[in-house]
Amino acid sequence: MKCPYCQEEMLLGYIPNGGQPVQWIPEGGKPSLFSFSVAEKGIPLMNRFKPLKVNGYQAQAHYCPKCKVVIAPTKES
Ligand SMILES: [Zn+2]
Repeated sequence: MKCPYCQEEMLLGYIPNGGQPVQWIPEGGKPSLFSFSVAEKGIPLMNRFKPLKVNGYQAQAHYCPKCKVVIAPTKES
């Protein structure tokens, strides 16, 4: 994936999380009270789930070391 700011190739990685999917929640919104679920207004990122690992959910994320920006695609894209 190319960085939309500087057009250089981004580094592929992930953002670890615990028992809930990594998600974007609008300002003022709250995470779900339940494990394994996305908040009512949450937008799940591209998640992988590894039940046997401590960090169960991982969101795919690209990092540009030049612009210091992380881009994490959502499930919908
Ligand atoms: Zn960049």
